[in-house]
Amino acid sequence: MSGDDLTAGEEKVNASERASYVPTWYTATMVPASARGRLTFDIDVDVCVVGAGLAGLTAAREIARRGWSVVVVEGRRVAWSASGRNDGFVLPGFAASMDRLISRVGLEHAKALWALSEMGLKYVRTTIAEARMPGVAPIAGWLKASKVDNGEEVSATVELYREELGAEVEAWSTERVRETLKTNHYFHAMHVPRAFHIHPLNYALGLAELAEAAGARIFEDTPALAIDVEGVRKRIVTPSARVRASHIVLAGNVHLGSLEPRIAGTVVPIWSYTITTAPLGARLAEAIAYRGAVTDTDLANNHYRIIGNDRLLWSGHTTTWEADPKRYVGRLKADMMAVYPQLGEVEVEHAWSGVLGNALHRMPQIGELSPGLWLASAFGGHGINTTAMAGNILAQAVVEGDDTWRLFAPFELVWAGGGLGRAAMQVFYWWFNGVERFEARAARQREAEEQRVAGRAARRDDEMDVEARLGAVVPRADLPEEPALAELPADPLAASEIVSPPIKRDGIDALLEARVRASLARVDLPDVSVVEDDAARDRPVPDARPKRPV
Ligand SMILES: Cc1cc2nc3c(=O)[nH]c(=O)nc-3n(C[C@H](O)[C@H](O)[C@H](O)COP(=O)(O)OP(=O)(O)OC[C@H]3O[C@@H](n4cnc5c(N)ncnc54)[C@H](O)[C@@H]3O)c2cc1C
Repeated sequence: MSGDDLTAGEEKVNASERASYVPTWYTATMVPASARGRLTFDIDVDVCVVGAGLAGLTAAREIARRGWSVVVVEGRRVAWSASGRNDGFVLPGFAASMDRLISRVGLEHAKALWALSEMGLKYVRTTIAEARMPGVAPIAGWLKASKVDNGEEVSATVELYREELGAEVEAWSTERVRETLKTNHYFHAMHVPRAFHIHPLNYALGLAELAEAAGARIFEDTPALAIDVEGVRKRIVTPSARVRASHIVLAGNVHLGSLEPRIAGTVVPIWSYTITTAPLGARLAEAIAYRGAVTDTDLANNHYRIIGNDRLLWSGHTTTWEADPKRYVGRLKADMMAVYPQLGEVEVEHAWSGVLGNALHRMPQIGELSPGLWLASAFGGHGINTTAMAGNILAQAVVEGDDTWRLFAPFELVWAGGGLGRAAMQVFYWWFNGVERFEARAARQREAEEQRVAGRAARRDDEMDVEARLGAVVPRADLPEEPALAELPADPLAASEIVSPPIKRDGIDALLEARVRASLARVDLPDVSVVEDDAARDRPVPDARPKRPV
C-alpha cells in the first residue's frame, strides 16, 4: 500500500476507535477496526486464549482452523501493546544469536530452531499475501550494518548462516553498504533479502479478522482476572462473565502480572522508543537508497526504515521502566543526525514507546506448564516471526498432540530477578551501548587516520612519479650542472647599475598650467592660479556662479 492509501485508511477510522490505542504513526494510518464488545455471558469452549497480541491471535486462528472452539479474552484492545507498536521488521531467527544457540543446544538442535523461526517468517508473508491484507505494505530486505570494520567477522557469520543453517544471506562490502546507506558510520553488512517489514498494527488487525473468520471469538475490554487450572475443565474469571475451557493459552506477554505472578516474574519488561518524521522529500534519497529495514546493533538502538513513501521511522534506547516517549525525541533525532547529517533539520510527527518481554536466555517460552495450561511468551524484540511460529506450534500441540514445542524445553522459566534483575539488565544495556559507541567511534577514527596516511603516501608517490618521469625524459646525469652562486650576474638594481635619467620639469610646468587654465575658463570659475598662488586656496572664493532659481 502506498503512503496515499495509508492516509485514506486514516480518514476511514473514527476518532473514538483510535482513542483506545496510544497515538502512533500506525494508529494514524490504521485500517478501520471497530471495537469488539466485552464478554458478558458465561461460555464453554475447547480453548481460551488470554491476550490478543500476535501470539494469542495466531494461536486462536490456527486452533479455530483445526475445527476447535476458541475464545480470546483481551484486557484492552487487539494489538494495543507491543504487537501494534513495534518496528515491523519480520526477520528469521530469535532475539538470542545463533552462535549462542549453537553453543547452548548443539548444531542440530539449533538448525531445527532456525527452521521454525523461518517458518514463522513464511507464515506472516503467506498470510498477508493470501488474505490480501490492506495497509500492511510488506517491503523486502533487511540490512544488518556493522559500525566497526569487521569484514572477516561478518563473512564468518554469513558463512555460518549459509552453510550450517541453509539461510539465504549475503555479505555486503563496505563500498556497497556506503553506496546504499550514505554514511561513513557503517562498514560491512549482512543482507537478508527474504526478510521484510510491515505495518504491524494493520497486520494484527487483519490477523484478528482471519481468526474470527476461522471461527474464533474475540472479546476486548475483557481482562482475565483469575484462572483455575486444577480440573479437567479450567475456569477463567473475567469482570462480567466466566469461561470454561479444556485448555488455556497464556499469551499476555509482560502484562500477565497478577494473573500469573510466577510466570510474569520470568520476563524482564523492556521499553523501547520510536519516532517517525514528517515527509522528508528528496533529501531522504540522498541519505538512504534502500527500502528495506536497517539495524546497526545487537540491541535496541538504531532500527530504522522508510515508511509511507518518504518518512523515516527510527527506534532505539531502552529502559526497564516506562518513561515519557517525548523525553527520547531529542536523543533519537540526535542518533539520526549522527548517522545521516545530510538530512538536516527534521520534524518529528509521532513519538511513542512500547514494551517487550525478554527472558534471561533471550529465547521464547513456549510449552505446556501443567496439563492443559500452555504458555507463549517472552518473544523479546524479535516477536513477529516467533509469535507466528509459536501460535502454529501450540495449535498443533493442543489439537494434534504434536510435541515440536519440546524443542524449546531447554529454555526454561528462569526467574528474572525482580526489581534487581531489571536494574542489572538496565546497567547491562547502558554498558553495552557505551561499549558499542566507543568501538564505533574508534573504528571511524582509525579509518580517518588510515585515509590520511594513504593520502600522504599517494601524494609522495605522485611526486616520485613526476621525478621518475622527468628523469626518464632527461636522465639526471645528462642535466647541465647548476652554476655556482658566485658565477651568477650581480643584481643590477641592487648594484645601482641602472639610474633613471633626470626629468626636465620647466616646460612641463608651463604646459600643465596652460591646460588647467583653459579648462577652468570653460567652467566659469574665478581666475586663480593653481600653480603660483597656492595660498589663495585658503581664502574664501568669491561666488561668481549664477545662483540657481529656488
Ligand atoms: C518498540 C518495539 C519494537 C519492536 N520491534 C520489533 C520488530 O521490528 N520485529 C519483531 O519481530 N519484533 C519486534 N518487537 C517485539 C514484538 O512486538 C513482540 O515480541 C510481540 O509483539 C509480542 O507479542 P505478544 O502477543 O506476545 O504480546 P503483546 O503484543 O504484548 O500482547 C499481549 C496482550 O495480552 C493482553 N493481556 C495480558 N494479560 C491479560 C489478561 N490477564 N487478560 C486479558 N488480556 C491480557 C495484553 O492486553 C496484550 O494485548 C518490538 C517490540 C517493541 C516494544
